[in-house]
Amino acid sequence: MATKLLLTFAICRLIVTVGLTLEPTELFRLGLTVDPVDVVSASVDFGLMTKVEPLAVLRPSSAKDVAQLVKAAYESSHGFTVSARGHGHSINGQAQTGTGVVVQMSGVGSGGKPRVWGGDMYVDVWGGELWIDVLKSCLAYGLAPKSWTDYLYLSVGGTLSNAGISGQAFHHGPQISNVHELDVVTGKGELMTCSKEQNPELFHAVLGGLGQFGIITRARISLEPAPQRVRWIRVLYSNFSAFTKDQEYLISLHGNQKFDYVEGFVIVDEGLINNWRSSFFSPRNPVKISSLGSNNNGGVLYCLEITKNYHESTVETIDQEIEALLKKLNFIPTSVFTTDLPYVDFLDRVHKAELKLRSKGMWEVPHPWLNLFVPKSKIADFDRGVFKGILGNKTSGPILIYPMNKNKWDDKSSVVTPDEDVFYLVAFLRSALDNGEETQSLEYLTNQNRRILKFCDENGLKVKQYLPHYKTQSEWKEHYGSKWDRFQRMKMKFDPRHILASGQNIFTPTF
Ligand code: FAD
Repeated sequence: MATKLLLTFAICRLIVTVGLTLEPTELFRLGLTVDPVDVVSASVDFGLMTKVEPLAVLRPSSAKDVAQLVKAAYESSHGFTVSARGHGHSINGQAQTGTGVVVQMSGVGSGGKPRVWGGDMYVDVWGGELWIDVLKSCLAYGLAPKSWTDYLYLSVGGTLSNAGISGQAFHHGPQISNVHELDVVTGKGELMTCSKEQNPELFHAVLGGLGQFGIITRARISLEPAPQRVRWIRVLYSNFSAFTKDQEYLISLHGNQKFDYVEGFVIVDEGLINNWRSSFFSPRNPVKISSLGSNNNGGVLYCLEITKNYHESTVETIDQEIEALLKKLNFIPTSVFTTDLPYVDFLDRVHKAELKLRSKGMWEVPHPWLNLFVPKSKIADFDRGVFKGILGNKTSGPILIYPMNKNKWDDKSSVVTPDEDVFYLVAFLRSALDNGEETQSLEYLTNQNRRILKFCDENGLKVKQYLPHYKTQSEWKEHYGSKWDRFQRMKMKFDPRHILASGQNIFTPTF
């Protein structure tokens, strides 16, 4: 009872502070809370490098709730910000706000269950739904989305606000290329349906739009028949150009005679063989890096990771198909590691690693991650300067590298990619540890990220940040390049008071 009274008091204070036009009872009905547990949990993210407490948190049960809150913010006399938070897996406070309300989109009781339309091969999902739950709902119909992220405990709205990429993107495009329709609450509090045909400006702006133009409350996602099993293969290279040549060859293939997933990672130190993504290498089959020729190559090895999906009825032909594809590649012949598992286990593979890290207290640590799109023509320079240069021989986490085809990305979306037909994702997914080892400290890794960006800049590598993070508008302008004018125009049209997703630091709220 006392808690309820305190919360009522805090909500009344909030009404006065931000000039809300809603009654306290209405706020409670909406699911607005100032409970410290909710406020504190909305003040941090996976990066664990910034902490910003919102004035309140909204737990919406429908798009109408979201629209009502944003409308109140838009019409309020003092104004306040509204930031959608999916699963809070940003790195740099992108879903935080200190001058308003965080809308907690993921969680129990929000928005309703995914609705699968088997005949039309799509699913309608709430914007806060986690991809793992989308997958489970679709599998019940023998269907699955086509394009993924490596980790499934991310919200649909959160990944669609960036792009959503994994090893399927070379063929299916990013997740934003696999959306038919969205429901969006704009910064004026209007709930609008949009697609390529209906309100196309809003549709394209929101996809990859970093939450700047609206809050996604529903997404209609394209589906395919779900494979049953996956053959998962890793092979090693000591020669970078052989590695990239093979990756680029694999992403140029079409039709059935291709792998379904193409990724890769960089191994600069033997420790990485035991890192959180390499549980794959079984202890019964230890990899001796020194035996694989990496010593002649600045100590760096490259691992190509590929999969072939299949149905149990085609198990007889799968081996021949894989063999034919592998024959065309130039990896170290003794370095083939193969495993076979259900499709869902493959897609959910990073969660297993998460559970292990959690049990060792190594999940909730700062993550100074850096994700870059590097043009194909510059990837060899990047290798020389960064993998074999700046990194030294310690990485503190996985470094992913895989190419994608630009023609699978819709240039009308807000996301920016390098201006070449093929570009690579290079993802430095590092964890900072407070264990006295200088090379694992947050300061060291943050400085190293700066050195990597400086190297790219000084050497004209024309990289673009993925999941970008900048502090000034001039940096954002440079990031968006020729897309900036449209980005700004769309902001004026759909969020003229700059209420939404202020944690991205692109526009300053106008109150
Ligand atoms: P949040 O961090 O909650 O929000 C991110 C941004 O989106 C914020 O600006 C927020 O305001 C906005 N937003 C959130 N929900 C909505 C909505 N409904 N409508 C509009 N805007 C919204 N990315 C990949 O592409 N591929 C990967 O393989 C991949 N793996 C990852 C693995 C891990 C362990 C982690 C931590 C991240 C990974 N990411 C990956 C990055 C991830 O896609 C982004 O950080 C994404 O934003 C996280 O989703 P979220 O739901 O946690 O978003």
